[in-house]
Amino acid sequence: MTKRSYGNHLGFQTKAVHSGNDVDGETGAIRRPITMANSYALPDDPSELNWSSSGGKPIYTRNGGANQNYLQDKLKALEGGEDCVVLASGVVALSGLFFALLRSGDHIVFSNITYVAVYRLLKELHPEKYGVETSLVDTSDIEKIRAAIRPNTKLIHIETPGNPTTQISNIAAISKLAHENGVLLSVDNTFASPYTQRPLELGADLVIESLTKYINGHGDAMGGAVIGARLLIEKIRSDSMVNLGGTISPFNAWLIMRGAVTLPLRMREHNSNALAIAEYLEKKDGVRFVAYPGLESHKGHEVAKKQMMNGFGGVLSFGLNADHDTHNRFVSALQIITSAVSLGHDESLIVFLGENDERQYLYPEEFHGGFFRFSVGIENASDLIQDLDQALKAVGLD
Ligand SMILES: *Cc1c(COP(=O)(O)O)cnc(C)c1O
Repeated sequence: MTKRSYGNHLGFQTKAVHSGNDVDGETGAIRRPITMANSYALPDDPSELNWSSSGGKPIYTRNGGANQNYLQDKLKALEGGEDCVVLASGVVALSGLFFALLRSGDHIVFSNITYVAVYRLLKELHPEKYGVETSLVDTSDIEKIRAAIRPNTKLIHIETPGNPTTQISNIAAISKLAHENGVLLSVDNTFASPYTQRPLELGADLVIESLTKYINGHGDAMGGAVIGARLLIEKIRSDSMVNLGGTISPFNAWLIMRGAVTLPLRMREHNSNALAIAEYLEKKDGVRFVAYPGLESHKGHEVAKKQMMNGFGGVLSFGLNADHDTHNRFVSALQIITSAVSLGHDESLIVFLGENDERQYLYPEEFHGGFFRFSVGIENASDLIQDLDQALKAVGLD
């Protein structure tokens, strides 16, 4: 059976369908099967093997298995990267990256607006446990990054759009600054997904995806990935997959592989629904503010237009002209949109982030009264707008 090859000239949808898949050599099935095995047959002389190695022919699923490898091939193609490691969650992809690339005495600059685990890891755990120096910086301002770089800076880590405020950082400009200083740039691309933004093409060295979100897209599996140059990925694979053990299960890798096939189709709907809803909300008197990179009123709109493609992602934040309890009553009045954390699922998810968030001091002024993070799903936009409309009326804000 000949192995099909898919070149880089192919379009994103073609890659989403075909890359990582092939005819199964055993059965002739045109979908690769799930291989729920912990261990693989050894070569004639196994004493030659390095038990801590990974990649290549699988020997033990913690070092790499069939379904992980297929998913890695798909993600490499979608992000335009040389190599990829898939792991058990987005957070282990992030912590595995920091663990593998930073040692005590090194310095990292990271975004003020990030997923909460990044804040905890870099503000507390890495400095306390490993003696890593860290600077939390407003990365929407390149001059602040420039001022924070030290001789021992090894990595700049940004998230754009940032969770939960949708802050935008300029990937191309920051990657230029990083490389002028011999520093690596890693970008958490979870809010955009590779359909909407490809950081490696903009000069970043490493891109992180929580596969749990848009790439799987169906809210039924967790996973994470880091994509970038082979030598960097090999280090993360060996330190964080083989030796820390952050391995994804073959079943979850298979589910995510299946979900990723429709990523471009789903993202088109997420992006257009989110823009329609942001524009609707912005016109409502009962709405205190709307933050969405697709709106001209967003501080990062011009940069977002340059570095995001096909839209601006499916997540927006907004607050009501109302007190804490009214925000909760608004959510209770919703009939289609579900109150739950996570994002990037097929269904719309909303979460109220109240005033006691310890990171409130890092958010812009308008967020201080509490706000919603709203992951707009792929339902009909008209139904979602209708749901928001009736909930605003129910709490007396329309
Ligand atoms: C959810 C999320 C993560 C963490 O991913 P998990 O798969 O939940 O571990 C990291 N970064 C961003 C931006 C996220 O939204």
